[in-house]
Amino acid sequence: MSLLHQWVQGFSPLNTIEQSLSNLIDERGSNNVQRIAGVLTAEDAIAILKPGDTLIDCTGCKSLIRDHLVAGPNAGNQDANTLNIRLEYAIIVTFVYGQAYVCNEYCKHYKNVENMNYKFIPAVSRISYDGRITYVSGIVNITTEDFERMPATFDGQWLRSHFPDVARSMDRFIDKVKQETHGELIGDLEIVRIPLNLYRARNATSRNWHKIEINDHPFTSSPVFLVGDSALGSPYFQSISLGFECAMHMAGLIIQRDLPISEIFDRYELFMYKQWLRVYMRSKMIKHNKDLFETIDEPMRLLDLLHIY
Ligand SMILES: Cc1cc2nc3c(=O)[nH]c(=O)nc-3n(C[C@H](O)[C@H](O)[C@H](O)COP(=O)(O)OP(=O)(O)OC[C@H]3O[C@@H](n4cnc5c(N)ncnc54)[C@H](O)[C@@H]3O)c2cc1C
Repeated sequence: MSLLHQWVQGFSPLNTIEQSLSNLIDERGSNNVQRIAGVLTAEDAIAILKPGDTLIDCTGCKSLIRDHLVAGPNAGNQDANTLNIRLEYAIIVTFVYGQAYVCNEYCKHYKNVENMNYKFIPAVSRISYDGRITYVSGIVNITTEDFERMPATFDGQWLRSHFPDVARSMDRFIDKVKQETHGELIGDLEIVRIPLNLYRARNATSRNWHKIEINDHPFTSSPVFLVGDSALGSPYFQSISLGFECAMHMAGLIIQRDLPISEIFDRYELFMYKQWLRVYMRSKMIKHNKDLFETIDEPMRLLDLLHIY
């Protein structure tokens, strides 16, 4: 709980979260958990399974096992079990501002008034003010060509020299924040470029392998579950919370020792399907609202996107 309290203050780098969880497991010195650090291939993971073992894959969005959960000859083929929807390419820009700045829904529009392209959309209500400085984070839509020309992470200086139009858009936004609250930017912009993919595993368990009667594949006798980003992901979502939810649900199922494995599979698949419906519908709605917002200065394009009847 004390870690959770720390992480929700200001910016918390994902590496810090991962490292502190890792340290927590080590320091607890539990006899129930044995940690063996190393890189596994899917083949390694499958080869070490003994009948009755349970394999839980939490290897993230590039999941090691996801595409192996299609029973039959397509197992392991790229995207055999992955439904992927590319919503857009974007950069996530974060900066620290030396004043209180309350970002509200109107900021999205008024602080972008002169930005015809590359509008910076701040994360409203997810801005953190610690009594001294404000942490601001937001998203800018970029083209496929922009994405291909950008490194994975960079700063404001790099942006200024390689993408001056994007940098100008950020400057205009930040200048309006400064006019309003008379503060200064502390340090430089921090930027990450990411493809915003909405995806899911069609099978979040090895249920289909279990239905194959005569087969010597290890998944017929060792249940497999996908947890966290390996099962599904959405760019506009709180995916850490989604991952925790899957882990808690799965733990709740596997401690019920009298539940047959087929029932556990069905319940987990149903839970994940409901999560997917929630994530899919919300993500599509957010993307649509973003598209509307980005065309706000072009009434004809905006009207094309407005489906009323
Ligand atoms: C830029 C960015 C910003 C984000 N911001 C937020 C946010 O504000 N809030 C939020 O909720 N989520 C956010 N997310 C999403 C969040 O980071 C993920 O949802 C979360 O980390 C997924 O956790 P996971 O444990 O499922 O997978 P991961 O965190 O990806 O962990 C997978 C682990 O598996 C290991 N691994 C992978 N392959 C192998 C292998 N072959 N052998 C051994 N180990 C392997 C990896 O090293 C890694 O440690 C953000 C993501 C990005 C990229």
